[in-house]
Amino acid sequence: MMAEKIPFVNKEKLEEIASQYATPFYLYDEKGIRETARRVNKAFSWNNGFKEYFAVKATPTPGILKILHEEGCGADCSSYTELIMADAVGFKGDEIMFSSNDTPAEDFQLARKLNATINLDDITHIDFLERVADIPDTVCCRFNPGGHFAIANNIMDNPGDAKYGMTREQLTEAYKRLMAKGVKHFGLHAFLASNTVTNDYYPELARILFKVAVELKEETGASIEFINLSGGVGIAYRPDQPENDIMEIGEGVRQAFEEVLVPAGLGNVRLYTEMGRYMLAPYGALVSRVIHQKHIYKEYIGLDACAANLMRPAMYGSYHHITVMGKENAPCDHMYDVTGGLCENNDKFAIDRMLPEINIGDLVFIHDAGAHGFAMGYNYNGKLRSAELLLKEDGSVEMIRRAETPADYFATFDFTGLFNRD
Ligand SMILES: *Cc1c(COP(=O)(O)O)cnc(C)c1O
Repeated sequence: MMAEKIPFVNKEKLEEIASQYATPFYLYDEKGIRETARRVNKAFSWNNGFKEYFAVKATPTPGILKILHEEGCGADCSSYTELIMADAVGFKGDEIMFSSNDTPAEDFQLARKLNATINLDDITHIDFLERVADIPDTVCCRFNPGGHFAIANNIMDNPGDAKYGMTREQLTEAYKRLMAKGVKHFGLHAFLASNTVTNDYYPELARILFKVAVELKEETGASIEFINLSGGVGIAYRPDQPENDIMEIGEGVRQAFEEVLVPAGLGNVRLYTEMGRYMLAPYGALVSRVIHQKHIYKEYIGLDACAANLMRPAMYGSYHHITVMGKENAPCDHMYDVTGGLCENNDKFAIDRMLPEINIGDLVFIHDAGAHGFAMGYNYNGKLRSAELLLKEDGSVEMIRRAETPADYFATFDFTGLFNRD
């Protein structure tokens, strides 16, 4: 028997929302977002100065970022527009982390103007940053250990194939060069595996980074003041997967901290995280209505949403659980491909999925779309981005982004006159 995934709204409430806002739309759960931010802060409260810098790219929506800011989170940006958004929402100075790669000059210039903490992806970016802006007092460097990253002999990911970060030798060289250029406060960062569903990822990563920090301190004498564990903490997309336990993760990191950093005199190091998925994925859903049903060689359900609204199934073959609203207790005795309307055969939210019998007009709740969901949307086939709605703690609903209209789609053309020809 599979564990259940229960939508954070019931059918009645969702129909009420859908009577006011056209489907498809994204719906976010303020309560879940706040509770998770508080749990994360509690899990790391043993560390003086801990901060979660929410990865803006996961859910770049001001209405969401504002909630996280209120809960004490910072913002981790990776581009010029994300920096603008973080600043507009009210994140200031060291509340903004800038973890980019292949970085354009304008992005570094804006990051410096906002006094964001810059996380350098490459050793050549030291001279580049100095040339296009200046070298700040505080700099973080991103580490790539190469090879495979394994936990208890299970390969989690392949950093040796990843474009990010500096080699171990480059880190020492980078710290020395930065010190020579006047940098006083150092940070260290790495992102070694994505969507990890194990409580061991952060503790393993922390141990690696803590050891490197101790070595760097000995080799260079640099003042290492923060270590950034970045993102990568996953969620259980499938109902039968175990959930990560953030309290246990925080405790695992604490043990590594006590064993490695404290004896080396680095007990004042502040820990940072840059989680996106863990913070938001379960608290956002894509809500869509069944508009067609088709029987050829297989049984197809046609939604009014498509892969342009949620790309993960088409792009990665990701599993997203689907609840047919009001049929939560009906037997899953029908096998369907659940599709969107793109002229692409990979536009399927689910393939051969056992679901209750579906009728045209049913509302479907596509779970765990709150991170890397709306954000990865696109306009292929001229499809328009949906609205984003926030279900507030008091049960009211706020539109935090309106749906695109054809005028938005055409906004980058000079069509003066073309649309007003009455
Ligand atoms: C994408 C990204 C994150 C967030 O990753 P999640 O898997 O959503 O936790 C954090 N830091 C950096 C540098 C990233 O590129």
